[in-house]
Amino acid sequence: MTVTLACKDTGTQCPYVARGETDNEVLMDAGQHAKAVHGYTDEQLNDAKMIADLKKLIKKE
Ligand SMILES: [Zn+2]
Repeated sequence: MTVTLACKDTGTQCPYVARGETDNEVLMDAGQHAKAVHGYTDEQLNDAKMIADLKKLIKKE
């Protein structure tokens, strides 16, 4: 199973799609991308509400 999280689903115009085999992997991938490309901080990415919102956008194939 592949788990994905599309950056555009967070409201950006960004074509990036984070991928992993588990929720945690995909959140880690998305987090690295958000830091590198969108300038998020670790503090923002570790926020419980942010993580909960991102988990709702995760798709499993
Ligand atoms: Zn992005």
